[in-house]
Amino acid sequence: MINSKKRRRILIVGGLAAGPSAAAKAIRVNPNSEVILFEAGDTVSYGICEAPYAISGVIDDEQKLVIYTPEQLREEKNIQVKTLHRVEKIFPSKHRIIARDFRNQTATEYEYDKLILTTGAKPRRLFVDGEDGRNVFHLRSRDDTRSIKNYINTEFPKKAVIIGGGYIGMEMSEALRAKGLDVTLIHQYQLPMSGLEQGTRERILEELQKNEVHFKVNTRVEAFHQKKDGRVQYVLTNKGPVETDLVIISIGVEPNIELAKQAKLRLGSTGAIATNEQQLTSVDDVYAAGDCCEVKNIVSGKPMYLPFATYASRAAWVAGENAAGGRAVFHGAIRAVAVKVFGLEVAHVGLSSAEAKDARFQMVTETITAHEKISSMPGSEKITITLIVDKRSKRLLGANVYGRTGVVLRANTLGVAIQHKLTIDDIARFDLIYTPPVAPLWDPILIAANRAKKKF
Ligand SMILES: Cc1cc2nc3c(=O)[nH]c(=O)nc-3n(C[C@H](O)[C@H](O)[C@H](O)COP(=O)(O)OP(=O)(O)OC[C@H]3O[C@@H](n4cnc5c(N)ncnc54)[C@H](O)[C@@H]3O)c2cc1C
Repeated sequence: MINSKKRRRILIVGGLAAGPSAAAKAIRVNPNSEVILFEAGDTVSYGICEAPYAISGVIDDEQKLVIYTPEQLREEKNIQVKTLHRVEKIFPSKHRIIARDFRNQTATEYEYDKLILTTGAKPRRLFVDGEDGRNVFHLRSRDDTRSIKNYINTEFPKKAVIIGGGYIGMEMSEALRAKGLDVTLIHQYQLPMSGLEQGTRERILEELQKNEVHFKVNTRVEAFHQKKDGRVQYVLTNKGPVETDLVIISIGVEPNIELAKQAKLRLGSTGAIATNEQQLTSVDDVYAAGDCCEVKNIVSGKPMYLPFATYASRAAWVAGENAAGGRAVFHGAIRAVAVKVFGLEVAHVGLSSAEAKDARFQMVTETITAHEKISSMPGSEKITITLIVDKRSKRLLGANVYGRTGVVLRANTLGVAIQHKLTIDDIARFDLIYTPPVAPLWDPILIAANRAKKKF
């Protein structure tokens, strides 16, 4: 804890995930700070990652996604919260910002000692005719979650089109099938989930088809045909029209960098805000964290755009601590992500083989399928692991893991190996648990590493 006599004022722009984390950390590190959080929407501290499950009904009450209300942040954490306030301008040389209060449209100047930008990301748009239809949704905010839920509950749509076969497309396919909708997934490539290995993507496609999601390959949206009431009735594609009552566009996100550009913060090669390891931007006393920033990939050493809550919260802690006078460091990420596609868990850690190639690694890949517990045990399921290994050093660069159960812990184990630059010889010597009802004598990780070793 820092005992600074001078009361420093820390302003934070953006209050969904990274902002509240940075604010809470700053106050913990330096209780003498005055922390003010500005949020353009009416909700702060919201679990948007759980939104598909609130839409499907797996989480019974959408209100449960609110982690802290503004009042709780004020009372329990001593953070001042200004919802419905959009920060419109930053004057770095004067250490001032201008924020507009949407309730009365007044713009007010606030002075800061330190500023943290956590302005996040915004959903990509298609920029085609009819995209503004009443039944066309993105999923990025609490408003989006509530609008989709409300539309389903009041308009009773029967058919849905999801555009984009990334992880939100997967989660929304499951959510909408659970609500009984007939789901068509439009994707611009042959297989879903670009970035994963071919075999993993094929298995995901099989799972989608098993659950009656109509997957339209190599399909591009050209326009939306709206009815007179403003609702989209057909999605017009290069492969013909698709009839629908509801459209979800999930074609990825881009960093929200308008403010950063206006304040002349340096952007990185990915187009997101560039920071150093202390999360400091190129402008004095201005920090940034979360989906508005790029993250260093510690396997390739290159900056990457990794818009995930994991990195948003890690980087936000560092920004909050340093803005409060600390000396924290965020070294970067290997990328550790997972998605559940109906009954299939899929995880990806480290580099894909395409990224490894781009980073000029020569690699060897090995794929194995093995039981995740002793095969004679009831309920034993198979798990598939693909390892991507550097040919020269034998270092593990990346892995895909999929199966019905036991995926994430194995992927995390491999992720730690990647982070600590372990070789497949090291991994083959891992001392892993064996006990029949939960783990096999030779864990799939050991089988994969030993099989990969034979290729050297
Ligand atoms: C459906 C879904 C599922 C997800 N699942 C996962 C998952 O399983 N695992 C995972 O790691 N990640 C997941 N993510 C990603 C994760 O939610 C994001 O990485 C995280 O929300 C990023 O937090 P952030 O605070 O940086 O940005 P955001 O969440 O985008 O928040 C930024 C906030 O800043 C506000 N803002 C922007 N500009 C201004 C301004 N000028 N003035 C005031 N306020 C402003 C915005 O209104 C917004 O509320 C998921 C995302 C979605 C949408």
